[in-house]
Amino acid sequence: MAEQLIISISGMRGIVGENLTSSIAQEYGCAFGTFLKNRAAGKRGKMSVCIGRDSRPSGEMLKSAVTEGLCKVGVDVIDLGLVTTPGVGIMVSELGCSGGVVVTASHNPAQYNGIKLLLDNGIAPPSDEAEQIKRCFCDKDFDLVDSLDCGQVVSNEQTDAVHIAKVLAIVDKEAIGARKFNVVLDSVNGAGGRVTKKLLAELGCVVTAINDEPTGVFAHVPEPRAENLTGLCEAVKTERAEIGFAQDPDADRLAIVDETGIYIGEEYTLALAAKYIFSKKTGKAATNLSTSRMLDDVAEEAGGQVIRTPVGEANVAKAMLEHNCIIGGEGNGGVIDLRVSPIRDSLVGIALVLQLMAETGKSISELVGEIGSYYMSKDKFAADKSQAQQILDSAKGTFIDAKLDTTDGCRFDFDDGWLHLRTSNTEPVMRIIVEAKDQPTAQKYIDVVSNIRRNILS
Ligand code: MG
Repeated sequence: MAEQLIISISGMRGIVGENLTSSIAQEYGCAFGTFLKNRAAGKRGKMSVCIGRDSRPSGEMLKSAVTEGLCKVGVDVIDLGLVTTPGVGIMVSELGCSGGVVVTASHNPAQYNGIKLLLDNGIAPPSDEAEQIKRCFCDKDFDLVDSLDCGQVVSNEQTDAVHIAKVLAIVDKEAIGARKFNVVLDSVNGAGGRVTKKLLAELGCVVTAINDEPTGVFAHVPEPRAENLTGLCEAVKTERAEIGFAQDPDADRLAIVDETGIYIGEEYTLALAAKYIFSKKTGKAATNLSTSRMLDDVAEEAGGQVIRTPVGEANVAKAMLEHNCIIGGEGNGGVIDLRVSPIRDSLVGIALVLQLMAETGKSISELVGEIGSYYMSKDKFAADKSQAQQILDSAKGTFIDAKLDTTDGCRFDFDDGWLHLRTSNTEPVMRIIVEAKDQPTAQKYIDVVSNIRRNILS
């Protein structure tokens, strides 16, 4: 069966040529432009949107199509070219745009592509506004203009320079540079290679870059998980590097390999970045309900606090702005520092981790050892809406002594771990994330949920 085109809060994702075509992309551009015009009703002057793409071969075609759609409804377009997702987010504010568009399917395989939408604050639209855009797209209710009012397109090639300057402003370039870190970077032939190599050069690193051509021909499965990064682990050992960095194709996620060539897991990226931030000042951090307790440990040690949000980058970013958080992000390797932008940014993660190494003089494995470890398990299983609700209700009746958070499914916090059960926004599945002090403890919670599932799904 053909997969469906997915339209969610963060935009649209599909398989190019099957359900994601240039005519669909053009109509999505018309819908987003119409929405932005309605949103700004009453304000004078023409609006502009900046647009960028990752390295997928279909990127230019879809970017042109979205651009055409925006122009057809009278919105000017600033074409940023081949850039990272955080790069687009930064340029939305820098250029004072009413919105941003990123043509990317993030970590999904090459046959996928997507169109991610950002509002003027650099964050994906909240659910009610995402619903308005979707309705406008489905109803083809476009505010088309005549030829004299059609949008203009200009190019802008400043994204890398602006991005690097913003990241350098949050670290001590000289202190990092003095260490001349030997680094391996794997950009999976995505959008991150060019700008990240420039950043690392500014930070005085000796860089071995692998998969750094932005061809969109991914050298391995693009999600930066252990099984996909064996090449990076090998290169770290061969080069006797002090650290290895892996980005996903749009460079908002970062995974780290230690100096012995061991993949440390994406959950550590945010914890390490936070460790540096909290070593300088105390305050609040924000992350979603599915992210490791390591962040709480790091914050607690510094007298700080962690705000938990429903899953979704926009939810974390919104909480960070509301609570004036000094750091935030997600356990998938997404680090957010509001001084740069409200978007997950692998370059921010890289800079903060190098700063931590420079200041402490410790190796990455030593720093990981200081944070400590938990056992974490992530899984999913098929469950429709009603089954999912029954499972949640039954779990609530079972884990009565746990601290419960119901803002996104159910998260149960125990003394020795936690369990998060939530439904997917895009498919009829339920996700189960468990973290505990060790594997047997985690298994104990997984087994309880398995029993609940068996009773309800059988
Ligand atoms: Mg991504």
